[in-house]
Amino acid sequence: MPEKDTLHRFLIEDTAVRGEWVHLDATFRALRANADYPPPVLRLLGQALAATALLTATLKFEGSLTLQVSGGHPVTLLVMQARANGSLRGLAHWDSEAELPEQGDLFGPDAQLVMTLDPGQGRERYQGIVPLESGDLAKALEGYFRQSEQLPTRLWLACDGQAAAGLLLQEMPRREDSAAPRDEDAWRRLEALTDTLDERELLDLPVETLLRRLYHEEGVRLLEAEPVRFQCDCSAERVEAMIRGLGAEEARDIVRREGGIEVHCEFCNARYHYDAIDVDTLFREPASVTHPKGEH
Ligand SMILES: [Zn+2]
Repeated sequence: MPEKDTLHRFLIEDTAVRGEWVHLDATFRALRANADYPPPVLRLLGQALAATALLTATLKFEGSLTLQVSGGHPVTLLVMQARANGSLRGLAHWDSEAELPEQGDLFGPDAQLVMTLDPGQGRERYQGIVPLESGDLAKALEGYFRQSEQLPTRLWLACDGQAAAGLLLQEMPRREDSAAPRDEDAWRRLEALTDTLDERELLDLPVETLLRRLYHEEGVRLLEAEPVRFQCDCSAERVEAMIRGLGAEEARDIVRREGGIEVHCEFCNARYHYDAIDVDTLFREPASVTHPKGEH
């Protein structure tokens, strides 16, 4: 059995190629529990989850990374967000009237993948728009690395509706002062070896077994496990700040019309409820006083 909710980095000795392996279990099931996803959408969600976990480990940063695919059909929205602390959350929207293909493109020709890197602490965000050919997330992200980072990168993603897994290979830039001759063939050789991997192996094999199976003629150095988990960062404090942002008049108006203010977090299914008295209190007291009523 593979380790659960874990990411491992690894290095192929005597080459400039490094890799990552990720397996997501409880994290994937937490996402799955949030909506009644049809199997093809669920698999796509799992692939996006695995890709996001791999990318977060690749692009060293402190803030958050968000992948968003929109403008497509029958899957109209896919959002996956990871933070530097190892937490992940995501969701998908789809047209419930549409016929979903079991295999192949669920986004259609008009979808666009936007990758946003937010370094946090008020620093400038970076946004990259990646074309999404034939709905293939792995190919689109490989294209991103080719264009934006100029690093040869490959991703292999798998999801069977129970767990999600992924593997990433990347060739690091060669140091100018390096005396060792470059193994010109290494990237192509490792790419071809990894292409022999099937989805079942990626999902079922422990990382040591998988790397031995793929690269038994190479020297592989496996680095320590890093935990990956699902955690939504919504909170009563954030919801209350949003209600304050509406202003007292509009907030009270909603309470009059609807009997209260109901906020549902689509990422984790938490529900926050504020009745007339809560709303009155929110606008009477200083912002530091909160009345958490969130239920997870
Ligand atoms: Zn939430």
